[in-house]
Amino acid sequence: MRYEGMIIRPPSEADSYLLQITYGCSHNKCTFCGTYLGTKFRVRKLDEVLEDISMAQRFIPHTRRVFLCDGDAMLLPTDYLLKILKALTMIFPDLQRVGIYANASDILKKSDSELSELSRHKLTIAYLGLESGNDEILKKVKKGATAKDMIDAVRKAQDVGIKMSVIGLIGLGGRELSTQHAIDTAKVVNKMTPRYFSLLTLMIVPGTPLADDYKKGRLELPDPEEMVKEVRMVVENMDSPGTIFRANHASNYAPLAGTFNKDKERLLQEIDRYLNGKNEFRPEFLRGL
Ligand code: SF4
Repeated sequence: MRYEGMIIRPPSEADSYLLQITYGCSHNKCTFCGTYLGTKFRVRKLDEVLEDISMAQRFIPHTRRVFLCDGDAMLLPTDYLLKILKALTMIFPDLQRVGIYANASDILKKSDSELSELSRHKLTIAYLGLESGNDEILKKVKKGATAKDMIDAVRKAQDVGIKMSVIGLIGLGGRELSTQHAIDTAKVVNKMTPRYFSLLTLMIVPGTPLADDYKKGRLELPDPEEMVKEVRMVVENMDSPGTIFRANHASNYAPLAGTFNKDKERLLQEIDRYLNGKNEFRPEFLRGL
């Protein structure tokens, strides 16, 4: 129950016990991300993590969900993760699932049997920031992975029972690459067929290299209508049966939710109501990360 630095978690982990096992993100280079700016990546001492779990037992003994922070905790050695998972299972008898943020390389470096062992010990959901399916954009924003890496990682994890929640970032290609960004993101998601796919909308975070690009005119942001048109293009090009889709994060101009492919037509109609002015975009002052 002790934390250091900024703690973030996916919206769907709002009710989870947040257990910090690393500080920061080992990559920490994505040009749009300000979450761990100035935080040196460190692995937390195992003893300290185990102590935290014992403390949590006293306050929240009926914990059912745990989320392992920070940025890409999946990069930790499998043995270390298994020790934590075993402690969580022992301390919390009601534990149902453990979640984690993962970069593509974290997953690809682990063998199938390692991933399978983690899944067996309740690490059954991982969140991966795809951001874009377009390699030119991924390179520009220094994501550190190609679209193919991310497809392979998602498939590999899902094959052993780890549900993947994949996140795309509307607006990341700027005005210039908007169409390609939308179409390639949909194509990549179609190849992954993730359990969950969410869209967030880009917000410029002060102090990031992207904020500098924006200030110096190297990045032209789509306006709210163009952002929603980009969402429409993603939805229109998606064919990912069973994927639960969410675009209701506070950063989005048009909140949406549904399941592919059955809700695709309804989602397109809802988007069109925003584009035709029948529904109002979320006002700028209500947007947030
Ligand atoms: S991998 Fe995630 S946490 Fe790390 S810098 Fe990129 S977006 Fe931020």
